[in-house]
This record gives sequence, structure tokens and C-alpha cells, in this order.
Amino acid sequence: MVIINEKFAPVQSRLQSPRQPIALISEHGDPAAEVGREEAGGQNVYVRQVGEALSRLGWQVDLFTRKANPNDETIVQHTPHCRTIRLKAGAEKFVPRDQLFEWMPEFVESFLQYQAKHHYPLIHTNYWMSAWVGLEVQKTHKVELIHTYHSLGAVKYQAVPNRPAIADTRLAVEKQILEQARCIVATSPQEEEMLRSWVSQEGRIEVIPCGTDLGRFHTIPKLQARQELGLKPTDEVVLYVGRFDPRKGIETLVRSFELIYRNAVDPTNLRLVIVGGSASDQSDGQERQRIEQLVNELGIAGNVIFAGRVGHDRLPLYYTSADVCVIPSHYEPFGLVAIEAMACGTPVVASDVGGLKFTVVPGETGLLVPPQDTAAFAMAIGRILDDELWARKLRKRASERVQQNFSWTGVAVQLSDLYRRSLAESIMNDGVILAPRKVAYSRVNSIPLKVS
Ligand code: UDP
Repeated sequence: MVIINEKFAPVQSRLQSPRQPIALISEHGDPAAEVGREEAGGQNVYVRQVGEALSRLGWQVDLFTRKANPNDETIVQHTPHCRTIRLKAGAEKFVPRDQLFEWMPEFVESFLQYQAKHHYPLIHTNYWMSAWVGLEVQKTHKVELIHTYHSLGAVKYQAVPNRPAIADTRLAVEKQILEQARCIVATSPQEEEMLRSWVSQEGRIEVIPCGTDLGRFHTIPKLQARQELGLKPTDEVVLYVGRFDPRKGIETLVRSFELIYRNAVDPTNLRLVIVGGSASDQSDGQERQRIEQLVNELGIAGNVIFAGRVGHDRLPLYYTSADVCVIPSHYEPFGLVAIEAMACGTPVVASDVGGLKFTVVPGETGLLVPPQDTAAFAMAIGRILDDELWARKLRKRASERVQQNFSWTGVAVQLSDLYRRSLAESIMNDGVILAPRKVAYSRVNSIPLKVS
């Protein structure tokens, strides 16, 4: 009797609740955290933006993460129907990703208390450790699993000389989730190909890209933005935005900037602005110190500005001020910075890898060059700096491309559709048919806005 009740609890809750509750799990990427320092980056932004946008489409969204600081609130309400819940899993302090797995069983225990109350019938997991959590929950509860990787061990470990102890576990979980989840969300066709060739031929994958907040990231007058940041109209501004992590390839950018500097007739107006990073005592401080040291050794410190972490409220000023935004990553599953920059009308020079091949259209919105190729980066950046007429065309096409293809609302609409199909399949598999409910449809996409 108890078993039957448990099995049908999600269905009962769907019939009673005005909104369908769903859970997104992001064990280390706290959706309510400040982004740009330590390990907080694209995953945090993705989960928060997707969560909020899904709540606007009619879902009741709980975002779960690990509590990493005793001063953080346990629950942060983002919108009336979207909140972050910080779960107890080990000591309430920052733990680097590679050491976090031992706390995941406790994370599962903490999550199950919410599962017992809200009966989430669908869990969207983010990053491999959340996938492990989802697979554990699925052992005792009827839940549909949707998964987004954000980073792939198989690719990451290729470039790492010493694989961490956790590597084998991670690779196994990444294979298991692809083969067992209801569906994997790949954020670019390149990621889908990568999953097929490196992880498994089995399992279902749908490509749904990442998005950007078009209300925040859009074109504004360049001179006005530069004035706010204390940059001169005559400056030639090269921009980096992102975490300090060796995989991000900041060294390549610094070395290519030095090449441009050495070859410039008058380098006084050249500026390299580096946005992101924490104070030196935090986990990403080591890479920041290394980069600062390199800048000093190369003798370009007078032309390089370390702006530190900048919030999304002020980031559009940086993107707009820049003549070119550079993304020199060794690997990038998607790369939110590319579409943020392009949305602000800034051409992008990026490594020819992963999701950047999908977002940046060479010759139309920027240029792609081989990763870690200092000379190729210098040449591509130089081409954009030297040809104002062409740069103007790139700027126009860049902002158009993002507006047409990469809004968070559009992403949430596609995810929403995937969730509904997954829940419908799960009900069909049970042989249980729900009575039709009253649904208000949006005119543009036929996605339920509100279920009553
Ligand atoms: N970011 C930020 N402030 C900073 C540096 C980065 O808000 O000082 C944000 C940036 O705007 C983007 C995210 O961090 O939304 C980085 O995402 P991306 O996918 O480019 O890289 P990831 O961090 O996932 O490797």
C-alpha cells in the first residue's frame, strides 16, 4: 500500500497543485551566488536564469545547491515561484569541486526531505555530481531525470597532466547519466557530437542552447560606456571576461596582446581589460597571481587593467566599451561570455572549440582561431582593431545573431516543452492518464503559462 502511494504521489500532487513543482540541482554552482570569482561561473548563471524563466512560464521551481558558507541564507527567493535552497552537505565552507564528491550522500539525504514534501516528478541535474544525486534519488523515487553537463570529464582530463583521484568515478557517472536519463540537454551541436564520440552512443540527447538576458545585454552608446569606466574614446580596448582558471587560456591572450603591443606604431592607446577573479587568498587567486606576474615580466603592466569581479549590472559597460572581446579557452562547452559580448554589439575572437564554434560565426560576428595559438590570436585581434568599417559590420551582425537565437526566455520555452514531453511519457508508461486541466497558452509558442 505504501509503495503504491509513493508511486502515485507525483501524479496526485500534479492534480492538486496549481503549479507543477520541479527541481533543478546544481551541487556546486550556487544560483544565488556572486558570479565571476572562485568556481562561480556559467553554470550558476544558467541555473538561475533558466529557473527564473521557467517560473515565468508557469512552473514552481526549486533550485538546490550545497550550503558553502554559514552566513548564506538557507532559502533565497528569486521570483514568487523560483527559489534557491541551500542544502547541508559537509562543513559549511568552500570545497573545491574535485573534493566535493564525498559529501554527495549527505546532499542526497538533505534533498530527500524536500522530495518527500514536494514530490518533484522531474529533476534537471547540472554537472556530473548532481547527476549522481539524481541517479541515487531515482533508486527510491519515481522521477524523470534531465541532465546538462556544463563540463565533460572526458575532454577536461585530456588536457590535464595529472588526473585527480575522482576522475574514474566522474567518467563512469557521465556515461551512466547519458544512458539512463530521460534526456540530456546538450547546449550546442558540438557538445552533442562530443558526447556521442567520447561518452556513449546510447541515450537521448536534445540540443537546447544557453541564453542571455537581452534586457541587460544590448547595445548602448560606446562613448557613454567608456566615459563611465574612465576609458578614452581613442583607446583600443581588448576585453577578457571570465574566471581565472588555466583552462580559460588567459595566458594566451596576454602573450598575444604583448605581440600586438610590440608591433604597434604607437602602443600608448592599447588597453587589455581583464574582468573576473577574487582576492588573492581565494581558490582562483593562484592563477590570477600567475597572470599578473606574466604581465609584469612582459613589460605591459601599464596597458593592462585588472578590473576584478564585475556584476551583470555593470558588465554591459565593459562589453560595449571594448573593440573586441577575446575568449581564449582551451575548451568551452558553451561560453556565455561570447553571447553576452555579441548581444552588446562587440565582435568576438575565440578559440575554435566546443560551443564557441556554434555561437561565433567567423567573418560575421567575429573570428575563430586555434586554441593556444598566440600568433593567430594576435593577428585576429589586430584585424578587428585595424579595420573599423568591417568591425562595424561585425558589431551589427553579432547583436542580431544573439537577439534572434539566444534569449533565456527562448531557452526556457524549449526546456519547458522537453519537461512536458518527459512527464507525459512517464505517465503513459505508467498507464495513468491525467484528466485534462485548464491551461492558459502563450500565443507565440503554445507553452502553458499557468496551470490551474
Ligand atoms: N561573470 C561575471 N562577472 C565576472 C566574470 C564573469 O558575472 O567578473 C559571468 C559572465 O558574465 C558569464 C559567466 O560568468 O555569465 C561565465 O560563463 P561562461 O559560460 O563564459 O564560463 P564558465 O564560467 O561557465 O566557464
